[in-house]
Amino acid sequence: MEDNPLLSLDDEVLPIFIFDTNILDKLQKEDRRVSYIFHFVHKLKQDLSACGLDLKIFYASPEAAFEYLIPQGMDEVVACEDYDNYAKERDLKISHKIHFRYIKDTYIFKPNEVLKEDGTPYLVFTPFYKKVRVLLENKNRDAFKLAQNTLIDEDYEGITKIDANGVVTKLPLSLESLGFEKIELNIKNPHAKLEDFKKYINDYKQKRDFLNEDAGSNLSVDLRFGTISTRAVLRFVFDLKGYDTEPFIRQLVFRDFYAYLLFHMPRIESQNYRYSFNGIEDNQKFEAFCKGQTGVPIVDAGVRELLKTGAMHNRVRMVVASFFTKDLLLPWQWGEKFFAEHLMDFDKASNVLSWQWSAGTGVDPQPYFRVFNPYLQSKKFDKDAKYIKRFCPELGHVEAKYLHDENYLFNNFIQGYPKPIVIYKTASKIAIEYYKKS
Ligand SMILES: Cc1cc2nc3c(=O)[nH]c(=O)nc-3n(C[C@H](O)[C@H](O)[C@H](O)COP(=O)(O)OP(=O)(O)OC[C@H]3O[C@@H](n4cnc5c(N)ncnc54)[C@H](O)[C@@H]3O)c2cc1C
Repeated sequence: MEDNPLLSLDDEVLPIFIFDTNILDKLQKEDRRVSYIFHFVHKLKQDLSACGLDLKIFYASPEAAFEYLIPQGMDEVVACEDYDNYAKERDLKISHKIHFRYIKDTYIFKPNEVLKEDGTPYLVFTPFYKKVRVLLENKNRDAFKLAQNTLIDEDYEGITKIDANGVVTKLPLSLESLGFEKIELNIKNPHAKLEDFKKYINDYKQKRDFLNEDAGSNLSVDLRFGTISTRAVLRFVFDLKGYDTEPFIRQLVFRDFYAYLLFHMPRIESQNYRYSFNGIEDNQKFEAFCKGQTGVPIVDAGVRELLKTGAMHNRVRMVVASFFTKDLLLPWQWGEKFFAEHLMDFDKASNVLSWQWSAGTGVDPQPYFRVFNPYLQSKKFDKDAKYIKRFCPELGHVEAKYLHDENYLFNNFIQGYPKPIVIYKTASKIAIEYYKKS
């Protein structure tokens, strides 16, 4: 409701939300993101009602929803921008039916706002960041004000379902109407998260990589679903005087950079930007990975954290993705899809570009010959193995030092836990050879 450009239109409006069947039909019925979205859509409807507006909720494909709405006399659709390939194609289709206007809200910059002198997009983060940093100083961060919109007369009750044959039915306003199970979530107010983060922001750079510290802002899910605006986050950091905010701003800009790259190069959503080598398909290794049963403690703990909570620490995401693409030699697209299915903060651009970064195939990637040693990573960032033991309780009785020791894990039997499925040194050597050839 606050700082939302869509509510600053000052017009006659029909606010809508579409639970998109093209997306929902592919999800597991216990998807925690649907519970999260439903919670906020419901709240949005209540908040809109409290100020004389409302929200019409559809359960339909976007095309079907607009075929239903357009004959009723709409003259324009206004939405916030979304740049992944599905979203672009969806919005293009709608724009063939009715005038379609994007209002910039999702990211800090529009894709063409930050270009090189020759008018082409930046392909390397550091020069992009330098340019952005100058632009940010004068960037308008003011909050959008709620305008005096009038509400179009419509039936706003329940959920309007439109099936594949165009049959319209009315469903009660509940998650169960969408065929999903309610998952209990610990939803925190994003502004409270920012306030909390104030305590940690000075240590962010030093502590954010340590797995047992909660040194990040935990705002990725809010930025993903728009439960906080990017302007509000910028206002917060720019108003903090005397704090070391730069490392955090840099990460925030990464989010923009990845969306920007995907906008300018849509093919990288599924294809390597560089190198022809694209992994070796191996279902057995993939299955062990997806169950958190690779025998490499930090990797298994990360996967199990994801399955259990929908989150994964950023450092662990990097270690896991490196292990997946370089040590297991699996196609990055498989890992990206697995994350997409489970991450609460799943964002196509950040996920794809981060996976390509880890695989070494991306636009500004980690060099292909750099392979994280998962044991050194856990020794450095989870010395006492508290994180590992939290998510792999069967390792609770093993001394921490052994959980960072490949030799030990390979040569000793641990009840209920597998031996490592690959040897780090050999596997990374093979990976580097493959990349060299391609
Ligand atoms: C393989 C892999 C996959 C990833 N997939 C996603 C994803 O689907 N969605 C997602 O939001 N992030 C993704 N990330 C980036 C990062 O892990 C998360 O943004 C971060 O863990 C969120 O925690 P936080 O909100 O505490 O971040 P903070 O450290 O507090 O950072 C602030 C904000 O900046 C943005 N940000 C931070 N780091 C990155 C980064 N490396 N790349 C892009 N944006 C960043 C996020 O919006 C984040 O909320 C991925 C990273 C890797 C290595």
